[in-house]
Amino acid sequence: MRKSIPTKLTTFGDLGCSEKASLEPVAAAKIDQITAQLKNSDGSSSPFDPVERMKTGFIYFKKEKYDKNPALHAELAKGQSPKFMVFACSDSRVCPSHVLDFQPGDAFVVRNVANMVPPYDKVKHTGVGSAVEYAVLHLKVEYIVVIGHSSCGGIKGLMSFPFDGTNSTDFIENWVKIGLPAKSKVLAEFPNLPFPEQCAYCEKEAVNVSLGNLLSYPFVREGLVKKTLGLKGGYYDFVKGTFELWGLEFGLSPSFSV
Ligand SMILES: [Zn+2]
Repeated sequence: MRKSIPTKLTTFGDLGCSEKASLEPVAAAKIDQITAQLKNSDGSSSPFDPVERMKTGFIYFKKEKYDKNPALHAELAKGQSPKFMVFACSDSRVCPSHVLDFQPGDAFVVRNVANMVPPYDKVKHTGVGSAVEYAVLHLKVEYIVVIGHSSCGGIKGLMSFPFDGTNSTDFIENWVKIGLPAKSKVLAEFPNLPFPEQCAYCEKEAVNVSLGNLLSYPFVREGLVKKTLGLKGGYYDFVKGTFELWGLEFGLSPSFSV
C-alpha cells in the first residue's frame, strides 16, 4: 500500500510514509509543485514561497534518496568517515556534492567566499582552523581538496579592490585579501591580459595559495610527511562544463582534466 504525501506537515521529516513510492509520481509531483510556484494561471510569476520550496525539496530527497538507501543511512547513523575534506566557494552554482557526485558521508565540506584557506592563525581564523583540525586529526580524511571555479565573484573582488586602506566592505576585502599573493603573481605574469582572463588565472592561483596555506597547519604537514594525507587543487568551469585536478606541484599541470 502506498500512502500519499500529507498536504500539511508539521516538520519536513514527518512524512508518514515508510513505504517506498515509485519514482514517477514523486518526480511528477515535484515538477508540478515547481511549475505551480513559477507560474499563475495567467502565466505571471507567483511570489516565491521559501517554506514550500524547502518542503518540496526535502520530500523529494527523503523519498528518492534517503528512503532508497537504508543501508547507507544506517551506516552513517554510526558515524562519519569521509575520505575527502573539500574547500569550495559559497557560490550557488558550484556545490561540490553536485559537481563531484559526493554522497552523504563522502566529503567534509567548508564553503566560503572564493574557497579560501587562510594561514594557520589560532585567533583570526578559528572557523576554518577548527574544520581542518577536526577533519585531519579526528576524521582522518585522506585528501584535502581546494576547488576554485570560473566567474568567481570573490576572486573578481580580490582583483578589483585597491587594498589601499580604503575598505568599501565590512568583511569581504579583509577575507579575500588572503589571496593577495595570487593577485600579485597574476599581475606580474600577465599584466596586459584583459581583466576577465586575469581573473580566470587568479581563480586557479588562489587555489595554490590556499594549498600553500594548508602547509602552515602543523597537523597537515605531519599528515603529508607520514603520507596519510594528500593535497589537491581543483577548478570547476561551469561555463565550459570542465573540471581540472592537480597535485601539490604549485603549477597548473592537471592530473586530470575533463
Ligand atoms: Zn566563487
